[in-house]
Amino acid sequence: MHVVKTIESVRRSVAGARRKGGTVALVPTMGSLHAGHASLMAAAVRRYDYTVVSIFVNPTQFGPQEDMDDYPRPFESDCALCHELGVDLVFAPTAQQMYTQESSTWVQVVGLTDVLCGRSRPDHFRGVTTVCTKLFNIVAPDVAFFGQKDAQQALVIKRMVRDLNMPLAIEVCPTIREPDGLAISSRNQYLDPEQRREAARLYQTLQTCQIQIAQGRRSAAALIASMRDELQQIPRAKIDYVSIVDGETLIPVEEVRGRLLIALAVQIGPARLIDNILVDLGPS
Ligand code: AMP
Repeated sequence: MHVVKTIESVRRSVAGARRKGGTVALVPTMGSLHAGHASLMAAAVRRYDYTVVSIFVNPTQFGPQEDMDDYPRPFESDCALCHELGVDLVFAPTAQQMYTQESSTWVQVVGLTDVLCGRSRPDHFRGVTTVCTKLFNIVAPDVAFFGQKDAQQALVIKRMVRDLNMPLAIEVCPTIREPDGLAISSRNQYLDPEQRREAARLYQTLQTCQIQIAQGRRSAAALIASMRDELQQIPRAKIDYVSIVDGETLIPVEEVRGRLLIALAVQIGPARLIDNILVDLGPS
């Protein structure tokens, strides 16, 4: 496995793999790698000839008051995990390598980014789509892997790739969870033991909603109200949003039918946690 920091080195390595006729996969990450990332990397390694993992805490997707400086950066153990999983190349650029001082171009998906996380993180998705475009241009992969954990991000990236005719496929892998259901996230390590216990209630809330839907409850407003009630019982939780939206357009629904995303964002102590489930009730 090679670890490189410059764009030229990535291009050289990927060109070498291409000359041998290999397919190329990219797994974009911000590092602090865990079992969620590992599932994407393992899928890429299994199905493609040459896997590139990017590790880059992208400044343009953090708001001014967010956790950019505190974001964990355990680079050595990240590289060890990549090596263990059979990753071919780790691309770990500096911010200066990715953004020149004169950098003034943004890639922005409108509409899909105004809702859910886009409401409280106004420039976040513009940063994500811009850095992913850059990574796609640098690596030129056949496929890039994303996690369902960040459902809105995956949809936004898919829309961007489709709208701009980018020549790659997007694969979305299932959310990997802790044994108590908490979606694994680099930000979980911000939680103290009490907050960590409380955090498991996010997924339980989503599961309760799923059960209520299976029992025939169809009013989105009633389901949201009952999820909010459940979340409000977590002592230090601050709800950012609880939404039931169309699984493709992210438009809020009134009645539960078709393919839906049930998504929430909750601040617990220092960590803003997001989670979601997809519910498919068949053709609407
Ligand atoms: P991040 O390093 O947080 O930017 O995440 C990099 C990629 O890993 C994104 O596509 C995430 O959706 C994905 N990811 C993060 N956590 C999980 C998880 N628990 N299960 C599956 N994918 C995940």
